[in-house]
Amino acid sequence: MKYSNITEKISLVKNNKISLKENVKYFLSRIDERKNLNAFNFVFADEALHQAEIIEKKIKSGEHGKLAGAVIAIKDVLSYKDHPLTCSSKILSNFIAVYTATAIQKLIDEDAIIIGKTNCDEFAMGSSNENSAFGAVLNPIDESRVPGGSSGGSAVAVAADMCDASLGTDTGGSIRQPAAFCGIFGLKPSYGRVSRFGLTAFASSFDTIGPFAKNVDDIALILNVISGRDDRDSTSVDSESIDYPIIKRQDKKFIIGFPKEYFGDGLDKEIKEKIWSVIEVLKQNDFEVKEISLPMTEYNIATYYILTTAEASSNLARYDGARYGYRSRNSSTLEEMYVNSRSEGFGSEVKRRIMLGTYVLSSGYYDAYYRKAQKVRRLIKEDFDKAFSQVDLIITPTTPSVAFKLGEKSNDPLQMYLSDIYTTSANLAGIPGLNIPIGNNQNGLPIGMQVLAKQFDENKIFQFADILNLAG
Ligand code: GLN
Repeated sequence: MKYSNITEKISLVKNNKISLKENVKYFLSRIDERKNLNAFNFVFADEALHQAEIIEKKIKSGEHGKLAGAVIAIKDVLSYKDHPLTCSSKILSNFIAVYTATAIQKLIDEDAIIIGKTNCDEFAMGSSNENSAFGAVLNPIDESRVPGGSSGGSAVAVAADMCDASLGTDTGGSIRQPAAFCGIFGLKPSYGRVSRFGLTAFASSFDTIGPFAKNVDDIALILNVISGRDDRDSTSVDSESIDYPIIKRQDKKFIIGFPKEYFGDGLDKEIKEKIWSVIEVLKQNDFEVKEISLPMTEYNIATYYILTTAEASSNLARYDGARYGYRSRNSSTLEEMYVNSRSEGFGSEVKRRIMLGTYVLSSGYYDAYYRKAQKVRRLIKEDFDKAFSQVDLIITPTTPSVAFKLGEKSNDPLQMYLSDIYTTSANLAGIPGLNIPIGNNQNGLPIGMQVLAKQFDENKIFQFADILNLAG
């Protein structure tokens, strides 16, 4: 369907140029045609078509919300009342949500249409979307490759034109990395910008909810809608609002930093070259671009995996088969029922994280691992504070490689964890990061660039992305 963003679609519907119902039918047919990609766990076809009729009328009468008729898919870790919530795990295979996440409610209040729930790595743990009880998701550009993870289904739903936009979650890169692998925009907002109420907790001090879209206008519009203080998430804040439409500031020349630690060994040559060519364009357009240093970078991955597994081991203690979710039937004692339900209900990556987390929190190891990692997290944040006293924005590659082959890293967790090498820092520091697609490699696989800003400085990221777009 031909429109360049959600706002334009609303005006086309208003002027009878397109029918919202036909538009929803189109997306449903795309979902069906590319079923083999396995992007969706659940599709709400009848509801979506019904909503299309209601919202079309609202648009015609001029009484509609900012996202009227926007067709949006949501990651299956977000709670949507009376709909399944599985987290792509066997342990929640029969669970129906009893309330709606604040972010989803805000979409609905602005007349978005929720088309379904997308596949992801189990409990959002993974970088390839291969750890799912619903099976792996395939990359639409090359089906022998992964789409990235953990929000792989949400990225594919947008990249393969099955919806206008989607929501994912990002704890260590799960929005930005799949956005990079699929060639679309994906934003991890600042920690605190979007309420986490209704997001199934993985690592609560890292978890964020954010949008995927094909253009930065839609990213900014959706963030504008879902952000804000919510009494049901004590870490959410009413920060400076999101400019939407994005204020076009062509005269504004941001100072851009590129951290030398993000361009060293292990970075794919073509990705490096592509980022350099963007830096050249920036220089030609009179931006000041300078090398900076984030000396704590080498500790990102270790710090991230100690702290997030610790938080996960605590957050996932609630799945015991007693009150909801999967319960093992062949146990004779309560203790056995807990053990069997968890052993049969969780997949191997989730079990690995629970064991790692329990270990780093155990008495005797707590000081050596958990407490130490907390201190390092502070130092990582201070690196960024220092950097942002010299520059407005930081650009880096989003990923060290392009989308890898299915199965390539499944037996090597360390290799898998290293695909988050450039993304975990933003979650450790609480700052926002956007993946911008900047072209393809020789084999046609997408390459992404990450733009980072100070906490709550998303507006600068959007303005920059907009300028970059104009500069071509
Ligand atoms: N891939 C990272 C992990 O496995 C990030 C996951 C995420 O952001 N949810 O932890």
